[in-house]
Amino acid sequence: MAKIQMKTPLVEMDGDEMTRILWQIIKDELLLPYIDLKTEYYDLGLEYRNETNDQVTIDSAEATKKYGVAVKCATITPNAARMTEYDLKEMWKSPNGTIRAALDGTVFRAPIQVKGIEPCVKNWKKPITLARHAYGDVYKNTEIKVSCKGKAELVFTAEDGTETREVIHTFDGPGILQGIHNTDQSITSFAKACFSYALDTKQDLWFATKDTISKKYDHNFKDIFQEVYDTEYKEAFEKAGLTYFYTLIDDAVARVMKTDGGFIWACKNYDGDVMSDMVSSACGSLAMMTSVLVSPTGVYEYEAAHGTVQRHYYKHLNGEETSTNSVATIFAWTGALRKRGELDEIPELSEFADKLEKATLKTIEDGKMTKDLALITSLKDVTVLNSQDFIKAIRETLETL
Ligand code: NAP
Ligand code: MG
Repeated sequence: MAKIQMKTPLVEMDGDEMTRILWQIIKDELLLPYIDLKTEYYDLGLEYRNETNDQVTIDSAEATKKYGVAVKCATITPNAARMTEYDLKEMWKSPNGTIRAALDGTVFRAPIQVKGIEPCVKNWKKPITLARHAYGDVYKNTEIKVSCKGKAELVFTAEDGTETREVIHTFDGPGILQGIHNTDQSITSFAKACFSYALDTKQDLWFATKDTISKKYDHNFKDIFQEVYDTEYKEAFEKAGLTYFYTLIDDAVARVMKTDGGFIWACKNYDGDVMSDMVSSACGSLAMMTSVLVSPTGVYEYEAAHGTVQRHYYKHLNGEETSTNSVATIFAWTGALRKRGELDEIPELSEFADKLEKATLKTIEDGKMTKDLALITSLKDVTVLNSQDFIKAIRETLETL
């Protein structure tokens, strides 16, 4: 069989530890035999990031802007222990943070659902995609621990020196204070990314905040979403038969439990942090969760939601067998290949991505899976495979489709 030809390269961001090992096996077994794979390769492994003073991460983000689609392997975010382990020159920033800042994107996460791994919420038949705003609020806060009586005020000093003041509270004794912010620009980008992604994936969009209590802060989010919708997306939504609606966050939580899924739930930064962990753990495992960063200009970066699976990597280095789940990493590749196929009008490439996803899910449904899934599946008599043999089993299924 002739290999599928590509036109534009994918930006390939290699990574660290166990996921770096899976990355190579996935390419060798599931991609290179079928596709004349064109990639522009960036090694985001910690050693090379250190060698290039992290320039490679910045270059990979720029390349993503240039070509439009990237696929990323999980990477180490250095901490004190990694400084010694890798003899680092500096505690380099999180590559995901650098890439997110460069692309000004929103992260969409959705569980990969498969027969035999049922969500705890029985009526969730289709995946719920969480869209998390990744800027500001409590993640960029300023806090004060108040130790005595006194008056707390919120003060904004304009460029021309004029002050706007609001009394926050007059303290009779010890207490706490917190200052948070967001910007119209970031909220607008977030809204655009959500609306574009909803159109792209043909799903309804929900957005929720607590605007009844936060009449300026949260209300501003609600207003910006509505304005962006009315001026730029309403027509396209109506044409596609899709719905956008806004509701209160507590109402959204209650409704989500009663739906059958299949929509996008846009959340403010903190709500998204908490709710994406709820959705993913209700659906089984982080290893069954896709993640894509979408910029307001329509640039896509696909990855797995989990980390480098350090514990398994150390076992691997010790010569022990590992059973690491490669599904989310495979789906990062299929997401990127499908998008490249759409943009470059190569239907065979998008069809191959669909087929590879189907083969992956069928392998699990046929009872062949990694240990993490074997522990939670409702299927009987399953075969637990090691990291490599699971990928080989997917290839065998792929050959039969
Ligand atoms: P992790 O890699 O997500 O793994 C945590 C645990 O979850 C594993 O020990 C394993 O549990 C289970 N797990 C996660 N993925 C799995 C998979 N594919 N198959 C089977 N089990 C899986 O998080 P971590 O070990 O705390 O972090 C390791 C490194 O990843 C850190 O340096 C962190 O900075 C980095 N990280 C990167 C990203 C990213 O690049 N997007 C995201 C998060 C973390 P058991 O050990 O019980 O089997
Ligand atoms: Mg979290």
